[in-house]
Amino acid sequence: MIDHSVVVAGAGPAGLMLAGELALAGVHVAVVERRPNQELSGARALGISARTIEVLDQRGIAERFLSEGQTAQVAGFATTRLDISDFPTRHNYGLALRQKHIERILAEWVTELGVHTLYGREVTGFVQHDSGVDVTLADGQVLRARYLVGCDGGRSFIRRTAGIAFPGWDPTTSNILAEVEMTDTPPYGVHRSAAGTHAFGRAEFEIRGGEIIYTEVGPIGVMVTEPNANNTAEPTLQDLKDLLIAACGTDYGAHSPTWISRFTDMTRQAEKYRSGRIMLAGDAAHVHSPIGGMGLSTGVQDAVNLGWKLAQVVKGTSPETLLDTYHAERHPVGARVLKATMAQVALHREDDRTSAARDIVSDLLEMEEPRKYLAGMMSGLDVHYDLGPGHPLLGRRIPDLDIVTPRGPLRIFSLLHAALPVLLNFGAPMTMNIAPWSDRVQYVDATYAGEWELPVIGEIAPPGAVLIRPDGYVAWVSIEASDEPREALVRWFGPRAMH
Ligand SMILES: Cc1cc2nc3c(=O)[nH]c(=O)nc-3n(C[C@H](O)[C@H](O)[C@H](O)COP(=O)(O)OP(=O)(O)OC[C@H]3O[C@@H](n4cnc5c(N)ncnc54)[C@H](O)[C@@H]3O)c2cc1C
Repeated sequence: MIDHSVVVAGAGPAGLMLAGELALAGVHVAVVERRPNQELSGARALGISARTIEVLDQRGIAERFLSEGQTAQVAGFATTRLDISDFPTRHNYGLALRQKHIERILAEWVTELGVHTLYGREVTGFVQHDSGVDVTLADGQVLRARYLVGCDGGRSFIRRTAGIAFPGWDPTTSNILAEVEMTDTPPYGVHRSAAGTHAFGRAEFEIRGGEIIYTEVGPIGVMVTEPNANNTAEPTLQDLKDLLIAACGTDYGAHSPTWISRFTDMTRQAEKYRSGRIMLAGDAAHVHSPIGGMGLSTGVQDAVNLGWKLAQVVKGTSPETLLDTYHAERHPVGARVLKATMAQVALHREDDRTSAARDIVSDLLEMEEPRKYLAGMMSGLDVHYDLGPGHPLLGRRIPDLDIVTPRGPLRIFSLLHAALPVLLNFGAPMTMNIAPWSDRVQYVDATYAGEWELPVIGEIAPPGAVLIRPDGYVAWVSIEASDEPREALVRWFGPRAMH
């Protein structure tokens, strides 16, 4: 007896997003979360990228996040800010919003969609067999599922138990991060010394005109580099005070910590994102330094790539081989994120040669092409899945254009709210017959009068028709009127239905 089609281990951003995607597709999903509730102690991600805002917009929930955070030009590479206000997207900015709020809003969304999250429960074992996975929880309960997805963070129990290798690089730097009270006021901002970097800021702040404005009161967030990159003991207040005295000559009277944690630049990626009925997403699949702020966004986008595919396989519309495209598409994206992050860690080192390299990179980023290249990467707007040669839209995100349809004017993203694929026909109306797929693919005749433009790439030839996947990436483009979507429909959305 199957209890759930899918069990997701972990209700962090990746697990919640995946659960939402599966629920939208009508798949019965249970999320198992070790924490007693959604509350998150300690600072983690400080925001999301432009592409992640777009992905949330594709589901009609971007406004929930935008209304609670602050939009700003937060993308950057090493020490250089990257302005993306000229990129052709409705969201040509990043969103500053703490992870605890991102998780709360996502959790509210998945609850509305009927997802059952088992808080205070931990996955402690699982066994794969021909028809499913038996997932054991710490209290001895066994959940039977068809698939198990490990969204259980960097130390992923699921990854380790599935025997999936996690090759990469050991840490070269380590930092203590804490929230404390201070009797003296430290100098806010980021400071460098031979010992590394230290930074102070009030936990609560606003961004005004691109500047961070801290509140007058409240706890102070502190970050300070440790001399030993391989410390594994839990960091203490005394460790923090000793490091501050070594770096600044004073600990500013630090006391009463709310939390103290550590992060390093350990960089690793799961060798495979799937092993039979087990899949990995988010930090379970890739870890790296928080520099560059790409972790959370990458995990959310893993989930959006996997969700619709897993749903189609569970529902029997597509064969299991569709799941292999998850690794094929997301592993290279993860590897690129790791590379971008390692490069930024290297550029943050404090020595004369690194400082020379940093200056040259900053100079290069004053130029249009290098800025666009790195801004495309850091904003996630340049993601390109290799779906073969063809029109530049193939394998890239569909822009959220204002189109006119027989139902009236609408935004393309509004067609993706239910996470259903759509064939958008810009040619003569009613000329494409997709009847055998009409139970799972929307067909919309549309006109669009403006220019087609992609971030980084620039202007492109208007397509005759596009087949858009539920994750917002283009699976097929017609250039000639005689082009046929049939092969792409079968490849992505399963064989034709027998009526
Ligand atoms: C100091 C710091 C700063 C960061 N800054 C940024 C930033 O600026 N921008 C950015 O994008 N990212 C940042 N990150 C990274 C970001 O926090 C992670 O990438 C993100 O949380 C990953 O989401 P996830 O859902 O994959 O995993 P997690 O958020 O780690 O969630 C995993 C969940 O699984 C649960 N779990 C674990 N094991 C089990 C089990 N066996 N059974 C049940 N539940 C389990 C955990 O309790 C947890 O809730 C930062 C991280 C740190 C540490």
